[in-house]
Amino acid sequence: MRAIVIGAGIIGSAIALELRQRGVDVALIESYAEGGHTSAASAGMVNPFSLTPGDTPALPFYLSSLRIYPEWVRKLHTLTQIDVEWRQEGCLRVALTPADAAHLQQNLEWIHRYEPEASAIGTERALAWEPALNKEIEGVVYLPNEGWVNTERLMSALHRAVKLSGTNLYTGVPVLCIELTNQHVRGVRTAHGVIEGEAIVVAAGAWAGALLQPLGVHTPVEPVRGVILWLGDLPVPVRRILSSPQGYIVPRADGTVLVGATREQAGYDLRASAESYAYLVQALAHLAPPLLHATVLGHTVGLRPDTPDHNPYIGAIRGYEGLYIAAGHAYHGILMAPATALAVADLVLNGATSLPIQPFDPNRFMR
Ligand SMILES: Cc1cc2nc3c(=O)[nH]c(=O)nc-3n(C[C@H](O)[C@H](O)[C@H](O)COP(=O)(O)OP(=O)(O)OC[C@H]3O[C@@H](n4cnc5c(N)ncnc54)[C@H](O)[C@@H]3O)c2cc1C
Repeated sequence: MRAIVIGAGIIGSAIALELRQRGVDVALIESYAEGGHTSAASAGMVNPFSLTPGDTPALPFYLSSLRIYPEWVRKLHTLTQIDVEWRQEGCLRVALTPADAAHLQQNLEWIHRYEPEASAIGTERALAWEPALNKEIEGVVYLPNEGWVNTERLMSALHRAVKLSGTNLYTGVPVLCIELTNQHVRGVRTAHGVIEGEAIVVAAGAWAGALLQPLGVHTPVEPVRGVILWLGDLPVPVRRILSSPQGYIVPRADGTVLVGATREQAGYDLRASAESYAYLVQALAHLAPPLLHATVLGHTVGLRPDTPDHNPYIGAIRGYEGLYIAAGHAYHGILMAPATALAVADLVLNGATSLPIQPFDPNRFMR
């Protein structure tokens, strides 16, 4: 079988690699020289709970992906010799106001149903663990199993693994449209001609909806711009993810941290504004004031592929033989990538998966 995957972000690259490792002839097609700009620009948290505002049907899938992560990144390391700096050292989810603290307490009730090891810890203990935290915090929940990766390294490793696997990688080649014969996929049209395939997976991130719209397929995806600050020369180290309703801090292996993230409706504009910086500095001042003395090393910007219910589309498109989508992972694409790759490979090869993808039916908004 020849499968075509459109988009070499974390989702498309992970799917291409999984299909190739199961013996499929794969073409991975990417508009840009590298691909996965948003994936590389993200904070890299593998965090089912720390930013999830309430119980959601997506959680069983989030947790499946978290369980797979250690083995997934270990295999990538073996294949590529690139260390993606996977750390599973947990998160402190922090309340900064009495109202946040009440909400955090309610959150702990549903979090416990999935994660018995989550616990409320005293603010003194939290400050002893993480002296960068604001001394005025009102409540803390410790989520011991959340982790993170360095996404620039992860994208380099994935792209290298894809190349080593024998996938046909086309970069700098935008897919112009999907070619069909009698509702069966035939291939994709590019400026260089048609690339043929019997299965097509649209993994084009924030651009996925536009690729399917000409076929009458309604899978809306909107870009939500996110800016992150990168800080070094910290006056005190940070060892875990620190998250709050206002923002979060993610440590990196080299002692620097990422401070995220804005949520901006700015179309496909990838510039960071002064307002983005102002928002992030304010979040930092609330969450970890000692870090205001750190040095700004730079920033990253990405376009989250968001959907009306913030859940991705994962599955076969109704009415078209051989057409699949894996896009719209919004705020959790790094977390969900390994499980998405397994699920899509199962669907393409066997027509079904045991992974809990029911909330992600791509046909749910079809009129
Ligand atoms: C600031 C920020 C912080 C984030 N933090 C986290 C986090 O901590 N944890 C987490 O889980 N998630 C996080 N996310 C979300 C995560 O980054 C995304 O969900 C994820 O990167 C989406 O991956 P993707 O492969 O779908 O999209 P992308 O990385 O955008 O890849 C899609 C690719 O498709 C290509 N493409 C598009 N159209 C075409 C075409 N016609 N032909 C060929 N190629 C095409 C694009 O060029 C692109 O390379 C964050 C996002 C941002 C912006």
